[in-house]
Amino acid sequence: MDIQAIVEQVWAELAERRGSGAVADYIPALARVDPRRFGIAVATPDGGFHCAGDADEPFSIQSISKVFVLALALDRHGARLFDKVGREPSGDPFNSIVQLERDQGIPRNPFINAGAIVTTDHLIDDRPVDEAVAELLALLRKMARDPGITIDGEVAMSESTAGDRNRSLAYFMASFGVLTNAVPDILDGYFQQCALALSCRNLAEAGLFLAFDGTDPVTGERVVSSARCRRINALMLTCGHYDNSGEFAYDVGFCGKSGVGGGILAVVPGRASIAVWSPGLGAGGTSLLGAAALKAIAERTGWSIFG
Ligand code: GLU
Repeated sequence: MDIQAIVEQVWAELAERRGSGAVADYIPALARVDPRRFGIAVATPDGGFHCAGDADEPFSIQSISKVFVLALALDRHGARLFDKVGREPSGDPFNSIVQLERDQGIPRNPFINAGAIVTTDHLIDDRPVDEAVAELLALLRKMARDPGITIDGEVAMSESTAGDRNRSLAYFMASFGVLTNAVPDILDGYFQQCALALSCRNLAEAGLFLAFDGTDPVTGERVVSSARCRRINALMLTCGHYDNSGEFAYDVGFCGKSGVGGGILAVVPGRASIAVWSPGLGAGGTSLLGAAALKAIAERTGWSIFG
């Protein structure tokens, strides 16, 4: 199968729709991104890449960081983490507060904002916030084999300025005794992780271990156990795209995680890791063109996890 040709065809067929969807504007720094950007990168276990378009331009990965934070928080705390955060799709928007009141401050899953605030609290644990953020950055640099990956300080600042909803979620959970660290510290870590800037190529490579049982197929190094890898992928499939996770599983059939920056990381167990980026979002908050590209790639490669 000529994956490079498939990636190039899919990009070319969708390129005329660049600019469709709505760029997230509730974070001012994201509103300034060129809506016509569109990149695709497929990373394969032999260390190869198949790329098209703006695959080398760093973008704000936003909620996609929640996957890597979950992996590290589970490494620190094991399954006890799930005493404080659930494993069910939320059926609500990513920043909803209503469910927290019904469930005594326990968020439905680690991939909505409230859930990621809990996993960030666990990642920080009993150390300074910057140490936890440095561990996350080190993981991404190592897995993507790119020491140049950074956090976009302007986006992090913008997140904080526009962060009243996330503050509300965090203080609301704190009122139920769900959080251990001080809310401003947890949010500092949360805003920084959302502002990580990676290219599609970086992201596809960083996520490759999730497609190979928790082991980096290029170096053979284990990152998470295979049981944990399966569970992270299960959460991506069921909860990775806000309130349109079911639609994404139905349409695309890959485990995936979206971010409001317009990126999507898709994991195809045993085959590849794919990252797409197009800033225009659909009504559910997932990149419109990104999801369309993944759907087309799934159809042409026959890689859907459902056979
Ligand atoms: N930084 C964003 C927020 O907290 C992340 C949302 C997302 O990408 O889903 O609102």
